[in-house]
Amino acid sequence: MTITIPFNRPCLLSNEQAYILQAIANGHASGDGSFTKKCHAFLEQTFGVPKALLTTNCTHALEMAALLLDLRAGDEVIFPSFTFVSTVNAFVLRGVRPIFADVRSDTLNLDERQLERLITPRTRALVPVHYAGVGCEMEAILALAAHHNLAVVEDNAHGLFGKYRGRYLGTFGALATQSFHETKNFTCGEGGALLINDPQYAERAEIIREKGTNRSRFFRGQVDKYTWVDVGSSYLPSDLLAAFLYAQFEVHERIQGIRRRIWETYAAHLSNWAAENGVQLPHVPEHCEQAYHMFYLLMPSLEARQAFIAHLKAHGILAVFHYLPLHLSEMGLKFGGKPGDCPVTERISDQLVRLPFFNDLDEALQGRVIEAVLTFKVDRT
Ligand SMILES: *Cc1c(COP(=O)(O)O)cnc(C)c1O
Repeated sequence: MTITIPFNRPCLLSNEQAYILQAIANGHASGDGSFTKKCHAFLEQTFGVPKALLTTNCTHALEMAALLLDLRAGDEVIFPSFTFVSTVNAFVLRGVRPIFADVRSDTLNLDERQLERLITPRTRALVPVHYAGVGCEMEAILALAAHHNLAVVEDNAHGLFGKYRGRYLGTFGALATQSFHETKNFTCGEGGALLINDPQYAERAEIIREKGTNRSRFFRGQVDKYTWVDVGSSYLPSDLLAAFLYAQFEVHERIQGIRRRIWETYAAHLSNWAAENGVQLPHVPEHCEQAYHMFYLLMPSLEARQAFIAHLKAHGILAVFHYLPLHLSEMGLKFGGKPGDCPVTERISDQLVRLPFFNDLDEALQGRVIEAVLTFKVDRT
């Protein structure tokens, strides 16, 4: 059976093509052109962030965060085991020893109750991931960080426009990172951003992003020549990508409205089926406004999950699972990970499946997905 409903697909929603042509006509296709500046202003004004910088992807924004925190070999940073590789790898590149914490069984977010016992004199930072765009328990996490003098970096790849207790995700940590990868709510194919909430990092962030030079200050006329002043790399995306992304930012209300409709339609149509089949639906606590990034199901077992994916595939629908427990990955084992360290992560990693979710998933297509889901019965023998 060929796949007729993909898990994700890129689509044009607004002025993406026109703005790319405009970026070329502007004569500035490299980084930090006029569309990049528009994206920075959008992120800073919309979310009330002192400084935002577009990056080539979220992985690179995380690498910048690790550089800005001056993390060194032997430093420890605490991560959820249930996350994308980049959350951790960006820090391991600096010689950091990753410490894996388990996630909560309700939101699948970093379990704030597990953190205290993992903190040692070497701990330097906590990296919560707002899974599925639902906020981590930031009150507890920030209190713990303040008590132990730890930096907080939010991996907010899923969470743009989500809120925790009325405040936007990505505005809690000293630093936060966004992804504009093809699979995220807002995209330019590959892209990201670093949100700098603690202004002490702002100037050095510009330098690290521009090959370790003070080029940004030069362009602002603050120095009369630019030179090599620090370590760095090239983390700025082409203005062509910023043009594509800005077109999507301009219609952010429509995009978030579409995604809300998709999420709520799945939730409304699948709740009885889920209850009858022992399937857990996503949980959004009262004090969180979610970002409508994904719709996942927790099937009762690995066997049920695999049978469900095969069932949808037979209907031409691609559903996917993700996040093998990082503490049990080849790299995780080298850092001392052991089975049983993170029991919730180990269980849900076998059970989780994500349904198709993209910005032009219309009601007819989604109706076909829902119909196919409803004809699946979990075998409970
Ligand atoms: C997508 C994702 C990333 C990586 O984003 P890129 O832009 O592809 O580098 C990092 N963390 C999480 C939680 C993600 O979902």
